[in-house]
Amino acid sequence: MEEERKLNFLEEIIENDLKSGKVESILTRFPPEPNGYLHLGHAKSLCINFGLAQKYGGKTNLRYDDTNPTKEDTEYVDAIKEDIKWLGFQWEKELYASDYFDQLYEWAEQLIERGLAYVDDQTQEEISKGRGTVETPGTESPWRNRSVEENLRLFREMRDGKYADGEKVLRAKIDMAHPNMFFRDPILYRIKHAHHHRTGDKWCIYPMYDFTHGQSDSIEHITHSICTLEFDVHRPLYDWFIETLGIFPSHQYEFARLNLTYTLMSKRKLLELVQKGLVAGWDDPRMPTLCGVRRRGYTAEALKMFCDKIGVSKRDQLMDIQLLEWCVRQDLNARSNRYMVVQDPVKLTITNYPEGQVEWFDCPLNPAEPEGATRKVPFTRELYIERADFMEDAPHKFFRLKPGGEVRLKYTYIIKCDEVVKDADGNITELKCSYDPSTRPGAGEWRSVKGTIHWVSTQFAKEITLRNYDRLFTLADMSQVPEDKDYKDFLNPESLVIAKGWAEPALLEDASGIAVQFERTGYYIKDSDSTPENPIYNKTTSLKDSYKPE
Ligand code: ATP
Ligand code: MG
Repeated sequence: MEEERKLNFLEEIIENDLKSGKVESILTRFPPEPNGYLHLGHAKSLCINFGLAQKYGGKTNLRYDDTNPTKEDTEYVDAIKEDIKWLGFQWEKELYASDYFDQLYEWAEQLIERGLAYVDDQTQEEISKGRGTVETPGTESPWRNRSVEENLRLFREMRDGKYADGEKVLRAKIDMAHPNMFFRDPILYRIKHAHHHRTGDKWCIYPMYDFTHGQSDSIEHITHSICTLEFDVHRPLYDWFIETLGIFPSHQYEFARLNLTYTLMSKRKLLELVQKGLVAGWDDPRMPTLCGVRRRGYTAEALKMFCDKIGVSKRDQLMDIQLLEWCVRQDLNARSNRYMVVQDPVKLTITNYPEGQVEWFDCPLNPAEPEGATRKVPFTRELYIERADFMEDAPHKFFRLKPGGEVRLKYTYIIKCDEVVKDADGNITELKCSYDPSTRPGAGEWRSVKGTIHWVSTQFAKEITLRNYDRLFTLADMSQVPEDKDYKDFLNPESLVIAKGWAEPALLEDASGIAVQFERTGYYIKDSDSTPENPIYNKTTSLKDSYKPE
């Protein structure tokens, strides 16, 4: 039976709200800004927003927070939808903050009419300076006491394109000495003569985040607006706009954002890596983006398992990326097909095996289902094994192949190494072995030996390209980049090592659609760059790790 988990703080809030009748059903939202691709942090937010709605019979809207026309693009809008679907979530409505520009504009005029907003001619610099500091109150703008009529006229002129970018802003008139800096006459609208991915050239003024987000929630009747911790200081202003405008009372709750070791999750920096060509694109398998980890072979199931394990907290933490890798292994170990691939080969000849003979062994695709599907693996006189699976002067505990020693070739016979052939420089070029025909699995009594190694037939092996990926950064806590350094100084020069491999032929026919296990090595997934002549496999993760989750 599944262990009963303690409710997290959001579940407690929602259960109380449902019980007390404060809300009838819940409606959450996922509000990405379409200025980049979704990353692992967003996966956590998605799991929380969609997960809570699913658990309590509610719904989740997908709302693009598109108030920043210069950075946004439909490329991102489409990619975000694809990623959410891949995770297996279905939104109720697809909405855009820009759908509310008319309504927001109307509310801005309403605030002006009520003496709660004014047009300010100060420069951005003057405005920032005038805000004061946490210790000292701000100073009022010289334009703060314009008449309602003048403000209305100026604001309409702003809207009609009479002024250049930065020439004027609309500010709320609240309190320049307020202890919460966000209340010191926050900017509601700024001028930006820019083309918007949806509204085109209709607007040249755009609402600010604080004047958009809460009202958008309210318009949609979002009951629980869940966001990351850094927004808790915005919450009083979120409430102030909703109360002042007297609209549907959405409420905001904050949780800790996801930070992962060896990983950066700022879209701005990820964009820089892409633009500078430091990675192959947003979907480079080393990127923490959802399209990146997907191309790497991480599964949606593993990501959800991970989000479930890390839970929801109110305190920022750095999570160990090994936990995520552990989840990936858990999921793939249970589901993935197995194949043998040799990466650094040495030739092995079975001298007493008839030349020209081929035996096709039926091998399980997944050992967890011994009665399940199989693949056929050809066995011949000449094979490749991993160079590292042979040792000439082997220590006592070395159970793989050594001179005079025995080992089982996985799924097939026990062989014995009779002779080591070397070239003029002393490099091993061939291992001459003999096999014991009576050790064929299923043929009489089972004899065990300590070591089992993987192999491929030289005659049937397919040459493939391996992209062996490692962590993109070398620093565990990427929030601790020293002052005199840049985060790019910590890029791991060995995050991608290209290698060749020789694979059993069935690998090329795999149609499972998820990463496969290269036996004894790791998980790999076929890359979209593959051609029939050059199949390419991305390393998802190694097979084993000493890591154990708590
Ligand atoms: P970034 O700082 O990477 O640019 P963002 O917060 O600007 O991210 P949005 O597109 O605005 O990105 O985020 C959409 C939602 O995902 C927001 O509710 C945001 O709080 C949440 N989110 C973003 N990053 C994380 C993270 N690392 N962990 C959890 N939630 C996150
Ligand atoms: Mg944001």
